[in-house]
Amino acid sequence: MHYLDHAATTPVSPEVAQTMVSVLTEQFGNPSAQYPLGRNARALVDQGRAAIARALDCKPEQVVFTSCGTEGDNWAIRAALHQNRRVGKHIVTTAVEHSAVLQCVKRLEQEGCTATYVKPDREGRVSAKSVLAAVREDTAVVSVMLVNNETGARFPVEDVAAGLKDKPALLHTDAVQGFLKVPFTAKSLGADYITLSAHKIGGPKGIGALYIGGRAKNTQPLLFGGGQESGLRPGTEATAQIAGFAKAVELRSARKDGIFRRLAECNAYAREKLSAIPDLRFIGPGDAPHILSVSLPGYPSQNIVSELGEQGVCISAGSACHRGRASHVLTAMGLDKKTAAGTVRISFGPETAFEDIDALAEALLAHKTKRFPML
Ligand code: PLP
Repeated sequence: MHYLDHAATTPVSPEVAQTMVSVLTEQFGNPSAQYPLGRNARALVDQGRAAIARALDCKPEQVVFTSCGTEGDNWAIRAALHQNRRVGKHIVTTAVEHSAVLQCVKRLEQEGCTATYVKPDREGRVSAKSVLAAVREDTAVVSVMLVNNETGARFPVEDVAAGLKDKPALLHTDAVQGFLKVPFTAKSLGADYITLSAHKIGGPKGIGALYIGGRAKNTQPLLFGGGQESGLRPGTEATAQIAGFAKAVELRSARKDGIFRRLAECNAYAREKLSAIPDLRFIGPGDAPHILSVSLPGYPSQNIVSELGEQGVCISAGSACHRGRASHVLTAMGLDKKTAAGTVRISFGPETAFEDIDALAEALLAHKTKRFPML
């Protein structure tokens, strides 16, 4: 198999799996329990939090575990709106966010909020100037992702943070695709909330974290129940997932520079190989090294993805979350229909070999040679 869909999810390494198995089978206590098995589980949660905090260069108490990136996004936006309820109900976001942000904002509009969706340029980039121009006196929250999951465009979160310094609006960034893929710390970004998810960096699915710092105060929980996570996120802590998340972060952090380099090498190699395919277009600015978006205009991406899948080459049509619908990201970028419908996303991980990319290039060329354009 040639797995080139690391932006959708990543393989869990044997070390991460072993860590999780030992927690599930041996250290299975409830962290709230007052005997050694419980105290050991509590220590695992604390160590996990410390590992994420080290990777973000923040304080452990600024990291709260969530069930996934989607929860972090929803929670941050609602928490910021609650903190700024006297400021107003206006939200600024971009037209190209992940649906975990966009659908949350759409829902909030139904609940009485107003929203401005800042459009990207034709490359898929969003400027800090255009985001800041959308901010009003009644803007309670600005949510701008760090790295776009379809195009790999990296957004200027730092500049947005600097522009909001003297404004009441809080800043959230969805860094799910940026964490340990592009360099940043909580301080360098300057956002009040940062969303992370484990399964994009070699950790398990079903665990994420929300950084709560900067000007975020008295954060209102999304869920109500027990007092876990300092009362911010009730629910018995998912100890095995937390330990797996922490292990994945430690493994990747230790090899961070090597991984950044490897992802860039894969990207450059794929660009060179795929350039040989007639009419193939590169989409997006290519900021984040792990994501490469390309189009074969006239060739429907669903057909490409399923035919390549049959040959063991795993890529996705735009983003893994669309399932056949036109991508809102490519539409917002103003791509013509043929190009948008023929766009596929290739994404790399530290395990990617050049042979995987050779297999992809061969399969794409064969698809183009064998099939007639359909659009
Ligand atoms: N945000 C971005 C940019 C993503 O790519 C994803 C996952 O595809 C998410 C949020 C959602 O994360 P999770 O799958 O952990 O809910």
